[in-house]
Amino acid sequence: MGTIQALRGTRDILPDEIGYWQRIEAIARDILGKATYREIRTPIFEQTDLFERGIGEATDVVGKEMYTFKDKGDRSNTLRPEGTAGVVRSYIEHGLHAQGGVQRLWYTGAMFRYERPQAGRQRQFHQLGVEVLGSADPRADAEVIAIATDILRTLGLKNLHLNLNSVGNLEDRQRYRQALIDYLTPYKDELDPDSQDRLTRNPLRILDSKDEGTQAIAKDAPSILDYLGADSQRHFEQVQQLLTDLGISYELNPRLVRGLDYYTHTAFEIISDDLGAQATVCGGGRYDGLVAQLGGVDTPAVGWAIGLERLVLLLQQLQAQTLPVLDFYVVSRGTNAESQALVLANKLRNVGFSAELDLSGSAFKKQFARADKSGTVACLILGDEEAENNTVKLKWMVSKEQNAIAQADLLAKVDELRDQIAALRTETT
Ligand code: ATP
Ligand code: MG
Repeated sequence: MGTIQALRGTRDILPDEIGYWQRIEAIARDILGKATYREIRTPIFEQTDLFERGIGEATDVVGKEMYTFKDKGDRSNTLRPEGTAGVVRSYIEHGLHAQGGVQRLWYTGAMFRYERPQAGRQRQFHQLGVEVLGSADPRADAEVIAIATDILRTLGLKNLHLNLNSVGNLEDRQRYRQALIDYLTPYKDELDPDSQDRLTRNPLRILDSKDEGTQAIAKDAPSILDYLGADSQRHFEQVQQLLTDLGISYELNPRLVRGLDYYTHTAFEIISDDLGAQATVCGGGRYDGLVAQLGGVDTPAVGWAIGLERLVLLLQQLQAQTLPVLDFYVVSRGTNAESQALVLANKLRNVGFSAELDLSGSAFKKQFARADKSGTVACLILGDEEAENNTVKLKWMVSKEQNAIAQADLLAKVDELRDQIAALRTETT
């Protein structure tokens, strides 16, 4: 029988890589917490209807990319392809709007889309996202953008560009839609097949087609910014002014669109120069119509999602992962010594140190070699003699200084040891 491998488009995140993920999560958690965003966790699968209504049947995500299956009760379920629909469902279901005011929420987790796998594009991937529900204020748009840029900057990422657009409100878009159809119709035969299909169904989406021929035609299409009514224009100008006040630079990109009725006003993407074809690390915008579309009380909202695999790729280019720091590596040989070593390592952890127990049972020489490789500050050595006397040899790795000490004394000197270890750490880093 052959061995079983992970499914195409899925990946194991191995311990050697996990430090990048944990760093992203820790930084995001810190920044989001300070901005009073609260985490929400929703199920990984939902009724298929939720995504059809919440993302839109005319999108690639719903039209082509969903993992949809019938359960044993013949209900249609779908693995979530993104986070917003589930969060909004939960917001409505639990009456979060009734708690009054603005809800600032964030989430992270696996998403599923049936796509052609390539660097930065998988079938199971991970997003971190925020949703601010209950504010139509342009400051909410600016706040979420500022938080995204803060997270990316704190991670040390460079060469990022914020692309910004407004898709206006429903009336603006209806006028623009007609202008776009009028412009594109004479080129119909030159558009790629997907775009031909969208010409009547969802013409705005033609603007972000990845087909080169279509892009060349779309380049000279009318700009949505010329179709914004007074209200939309004011909202957009305020967002831009607030970004300037925040010191966040941006580029206007009138071809950045979301084609569905419940997307309104601000649309944005953060793009990296260092990722090749899959360059968008963050996508977001305002969706004032979605809560009502899903059956809730009409509620303005704005949010974004960051693709975490792409962030990890950028971090890997930037720096080698820092090794976790280890206080004690415990080596032992002989039956009594080995059990005493287990107990000692456990006691050291209970008083706050990190300690790794060598489980190999191999010769001391091999265990010492592993201690060297572990990057530990100190090594604890137990052989027959130490086991007999309830002592342990304490060896400092940098100075190679070594002395015997009673196990009980070692545990009694916790504060002194902690200071010594901290001092050695600052010397070596
Ligand atoms: P793209 O144009 O790259 O397909 P999208 O518009 O489908 O992106 P969104 O739905 O806005 O992407 O998702 C937000 C972010 O999630 C993207 O900018 C990207 O970083 C990440 N993302 C989306 N799909 C995938 C995927 N299949 N694999 C890895 N990351 C993804
Ligand atoms: Mg996509």
